Amino acid sequence: MDCPICGSDEIEILNSKQKSSKKKLMEEYLLKCEDCGHVFKDIISLKKPRPYRLIISEQDKSHKTTIDLSPSDELKTGDVLLSELGQVEVTSIEIKDKRVNKAKLEDVDTIWASSIEIPARIGFSVDLHGEVDSYKVDLERDFEIAPGDIVKIDKHIVKVHVIKTQDRKLTSGFARANVIKRVYSKPVKFNNYDYDLTKDIFKKHKRKKHEGIY
Ligand SMILES: [Zn+2]
Repeated sequence: MDCPICGSDEIEILNSKQKSSKKKLMEEYLLKCEDCGHVFKDIISLKKPRPYRLIISEQDKSHKTTIDLSPSDELKTGDVLLSELGQVEVTSIEIKDKRVNKAKLEDVDTIWASSIEIPARIGFSVDLHGEVDSYKVDLERDFEIAPGDIVKIDKHIVKVHVIKTQDRKLTSGFARANVIKRVYSKPVKFNNYDYDLTKDIFKKHKRKKHEGIY
């Protein structure tokens, strides 16, 4: 918004009111140029929000829902939207069977997103010499786990040896739960521990080691 008289962009908003028609949402502004003092009106109009198909992935499943957005807006991957399942981050945008990173909403068919509110679900293996107690644990997404951590889980007190993330195996440093696939640990004979994950266990399996993936 520039002043129509002197062209300055130093504009003060004196007043604004919303109007809406069948298809558009209009914001009418009363403006004052700070340079020449000219007072004028301007109208910004947006197309009225309409529902878009939104697919939210969380852990192993996905939810189909819709979200109301203005076709006038632009959307890009990484944007955070407030859906009926809480905050989600846009991971992909689908237009006519193609996936893009950025688009004007007008053209968008489906929005793909992942939840950033739900906990991260990680695997946690306790190596029991020949058997493995394998857990699924739900953690805050920014919960940090480091190799060397002494952890209580279920009836075990264990030391974390290796952390497998989405793209590597860590034996030092740390990783946040949202990138961890699985933590490998071995029992230790300690009574103290850094933290207790027992209350976060979602599921437990017992497996013979030779059954493969654990
Ligand atoms: Zn002016």
